[in-house]
Amino acid sequence: MPEIELESFLVSLSKSLPAMEAWVQAQAGLAHSASRPVSELGFSRLGLYFRPGFLASARVVVVDRVPVPPLRDLGLGELAEFLDQDFRAITYLDTYFVRCGEEGDEALHMHELIHVLQWRILGARTFLKSYAAGLAWKGAYKDNPFEDMAYRLQEKFESRYGFSAESEVEAALKDFWRESWILPG
Ligand SMILES: [Zn+2]
Repeated sequence: MPEIELESFLVSLSKSLPAMEAWVQAQAGLAHSASRPVSELGFSRLGLYFRPGFLASARVVVVDRVPVPPLRDLGLGELAEFLDQDFRAITYLDTYFVRCGEEGDEALHMHELIHVLQWRILGARTFLKSYAAGLAWKGAYKDNPFEDMAYRLQEKFESRYGFSAESEVEAALKDFWRESWILPG
């Protein structure tokens, strides 16, 4: 993965954030009519981890290829390599995109719903900035603290540990603040 010079990266990141946020909002908006509430998917276990109102407000859309941000156009070419893969799913705000054929995997939905909580609790600007900085700092996609959190909770879900996803994410984000993983946008 690329070696990123952090100080100059943070400068270009701050400049790119408004355009990045607009792009993300456009994706979620465009998908709205094709998306549906997660609560309508009929999964049996997600309701053990999330409140019904949350599952009714998070939305999912199945697509041939999940949209990834045009990072080079947005002035963040340093990060482009991280997104240079065929993702099974990706989350923008309250909406996540799932690659066609993967929509039956309940644990994948669990993972993306953790990202919905991250977006919602931190707000779009702060989440985007912190997530991008996490990629740059950690230098590997799965080591990004926001991915690490989602994979950790996905594994607990797969191991059938019971927990409230919202409480877990809130507690983990408090640790992130303390550890300076969160950069207010
Ligand atoms: Zn993820």
